[in-house]
Amino acid sequence: MIRKSPWISIVNTGGCNGCAIECLPLITPKYDVERFGVILKPSTRHADLLLVTGPTNEKTKHILERIYDQVPKDKKVIAIGNCAITGCIFKKSYNVKQTVDEVVPVDMYIPGCPPRPEAIIHGIVKLLGEMDKNKKTKG
Ligand code: SF4
Repeated sequence: MIRKSPWISIVNTGGCNGCAIECLPLITPKYDVERFGVILKPSTRHADLLLVTGPTNEKTKHILERIYDQVPKDKKVIAIGNCAITGCIFKKSYNVKQTVDEVVPVDMYIPGCPPRPEAIIHGIVKLLGEMDKNKKTKG
């Protein structure tokens, strides 16, 4: 169940890799995101949460769409870092024409260049909390 033990997968759509690197400490003993039941999965076909880093460009937007379609339903997407949210330093690049949320629906934004692992954990936990609240209000 996604709220209790979400499996997450990281997709870099073309950034400098700084945000993707900040995601990796999540599974180290220091940050230990597994205490929230979160498991990092390399295959997006097994993921519940998609962490997207980097801006989308004309090449990677199609890859992101395909990956998003492969994630099983009830999926959630978190845009990690300024590039995923606004395009940041790549915004004026000739082939960066849209933000991540113009390609796939985004449920949570975590700003920063790059955001610290604490901020990423905070975002994940907040999203799970909101899903819990929505579930309770629906009955
Ligand atoms: S937001 Fe900053 S660290 Fe993250 S991919 Fe963009 S330039 Fe790199």
